[in-house]
Order: sequence, then C-alpha cells, then structure tokens
Amino acid sequence: MKILVAVKRVPDFKTSVRLKADGSGIETVNVKMSINPFDEIAIEEAVRLKEQGTAKEVIVVSIGDVALQEILRTALAMGADRALLVRTEEEVQPLSVARILAAVVQKEAPQLVILGKQAIDSDNNQVGQMLAGLLNWPQGCFASRLRFEGAGLQVTREIDGGLETLALSLPAVITTDLRLNEPRYISLPNIVQAKRKLLEVLPLETLAVSLSCGMKVLKLSVPEKKRNAVRVENAAELVRLLKEEAKVL
Ligand code: AMP
Repeated sequence: MKILVAVKRVPDFKTSVRLKADGSGIETVNVKMSINPFDEIAIEEAVRLKEQGTAKEVIVVSIGDVALQEILRTALAMGADRALLVRTEEEVQPLSVARILAAVVQKEAPQLVILGKQAIDSDNNQVGQMLAGLLNWPQGCFASRLRFEGAGLQVTREIDGGLETLALSLPAVITTDLRLNEPRYISLPNIVQAKRKLLEVLPLETLAVSLSCGMKVLKLSVPEKKRNAVRVENAAELVRLLKEEAKVL
C-alpha cells in the first residue's frame, strides 16, 4: 500500500501568533515555523504502518513556496520515503489545497491519504473532508485509532460525547486527532540520511489546477479582550451582586 501524507508549515505551537500590521494574515517573518502538529501525527502513523509491513511507501506532500523544503526534510527524517513540493508563491485556500491534493492523488495513485484534522494557523478543518468529496472516497475524520481488517480499514474517531468506529473500504481519506499516536523524536543519523532522500519540486502550473475558489480573506483581527471576571465567595454574594451590580447589556 502506498500512503500519501499532506503536511503544512505553520507557526510553531509554542510561539504566540501575531497578525501582520495590515491584518492581511499571520506574521511569519522571524517566527519559528514547524510542521503542523496534526500532520506530524499523520506522518508518524504512516511510518508506523510501513514499519509494520502494512504500507510499502510513504510520500509526503506540501503546497507552497520553497521554504517548505525544511519541513519536508523533517518528514523524511521521521521515516517518509520521498517528498513532493507543489510550488506556488500564491496564497492557497482550503478548496484549492484539496484540488491540488486530488491532482497529486491522480498522479501517485495512493490507497490511503492521511492529513491533519486541522492546520493550527487557520483552524479551517476543511481540506480532508473536501479532498474525500472531490475524489468520492470514504473519509474517517478525527481518527484516534486505525485498524486494518482484510481489504478494509476500521477507524475509531472522536466525536461529541464519545467514540465512533467506522468501517471504510480503500482507497480512503483519514484525518488525524491528537490521541492517534505520539510522534517520535528524530535521531541525528536519520537527519543525515534524510538529506539523501528524493525531494521533488513540482511547479503548480504542471498540475493544471484552478486556484479560484470563491473565497477571499478580507481581514484578520485580534478578538476583543474579555471583560474582567470576578470570583465570588458564595451563592449569597452572587445573588447580591446580580441584584445590585449586574447590568443588562
Ligand atoms: P485545514 O483544513 O486548512 O485546517 O487543513 C487540514 C489539513 O490539510 C492539514 O493538517 C494538512 O494535512 C492539509 N493541508 C492544509 N494546507 C496544506 C498545504 N498548504 N500543503 C499541504 N497540506 C495542507
């Protein structure tokens, strides 16, 4: 089985996100960038499936500018076999990402595509579902466990109020939730070895995908600060404050 894993470069989860002065997006200059944490979990799962003998090849793909080579090398050091950078300098919205990934799927013919459930910079939570829709493949989103059975796959997913298990036929699309696995640390020999693995750069124009998707981000702004909260000692104090000081807004 061939597995395709989609990875996005985002501000590291330990940095605090800042907006550009004109509100046109998130500041990325002088900001530590990393692989989206859910995508790291996707790589880890794919590499484990290869180590167990379930998968034969793991390909990682990212869409964006040349700076993405850094995260693709990290994915190769985690154990992916080869990497694909679909190069574009333009901003790509979720539907365009899904269309580009669908074109990569046509080219590579994987049996499984694993994505993160959401990118932590935009929190869209859309690409996996859109990709499954475009390909007309079954989808298992927010996966916390994968189990291969015969020719199919059982996916346990985290839903409101509990866990749900779905049986999917392959090919399929999976998106990862936090509890699926804990990504490995990368050893120095693996970093050195990753430098010798294939990283192919594919100009977006070669895929003949339209980037027009009917959606444009007009402006981002920081949410208003919450008004000061007051802690009360007991119910009587709460009732007194509600009677005497609470105002209808
Ligand atoms: P989103 O729907 O934007 O929250 O992203 C969900 C998932 O889609 C991410 O966790 C990635 O696996 C994938 N993805 C989003 N944007 C990109 C991108 N530019 N390149 C590759 N994969 C992406």
